Amino acid sequence: MLLRGEPIGPSSQPIQAVLFDKDGTLSVSEPMLHALAQARVFHALRLLQERHPEMAQEALADCDALLHRAYGLGEDGVDPAGTTAVASRQHNLISTATTLAQVGLGWPEALSLAEAVFAATDALHGLGSAHKPVATEGLHDLVEHLAAAGLRCAVISNDEEAGIEAFLRSQGIDQHFQACWSAEHTPRKPDPGAVHALCHALGVPPDACALIGDANSDLRMARAAGVPVVLGYTAAWSQPPPLDPSFPRLQHWRELRLAP
Ligand SMILES: [Mg+2]
Repeated sequence: MLLRGEPIGPSSQPIQAVLFDKDGTLSVSEPMLHALAQARVFHALRLLQERHPEMAQEALADCDALLHRAYGLGEDGVDPAGTTAVASRQHNLISTATTLAQVGLGWPEALSLAEAVFAATDALHGLGSAHKPVATEGLHDLVEHLAAAGLRCAVISNDEEAGIEAFLRSQGIDQHFQACWSAEHTPRKPDPGAVHALCHALGVPPDACALIGDANSDLRMARAAGVPVVLGYTAAWSQPPPLDPSFPRLQHWRELRLAP
């Protein structure tokens, strides 16, 4: 395998499979995540006002600011290392409830309000979302190049399986992916056991795989799982993710090719 024309990975063991993260790696998801985080803030404040008309404006303003920070939500985008970008729905729900507890709600109420916020906004992401995720530039060429050389491809994501499959189908690349590991599988990423289980499903040992992701949690998981080629992908975000510099990076899919 060549990165910008230079060989990477062990010379003894050819790479047989590439494991891709989905959001922020295969797909440009920032516009959808930005809209989702904004909607979660909007509904949290709306429900808080409905259920607590006595709450002071300053407390609502505090809640607004705390939610923005908890979600990594900025004016034009989301923090690529923040909870909206990286964490599962369940973890985002808990961080929402924690924020509501910080402005004075008891935990049972904070949790139930957070659940109502997520129920009101779930339609904005995943299946049926108005923001259709687009593939990152050059992805189709890379996937066809890998498939033509007989490599296997897989997705390792904290999205649900239906969301992963819908994305691959919408891009016409589903036939090139032989397996996926989703939020419904156990253990989930970033547990290195997720990589081992996916490799087992693919029939390829971890030391014959490459893994590419846009979060340190993906990259460190892959290293801990014994994957020899671990690459950070940075092109899907308006603000590049703060990746651990010990991992080589990739700015465009054309930089990755197989040795002839
Ligand atoms: Mg990602």
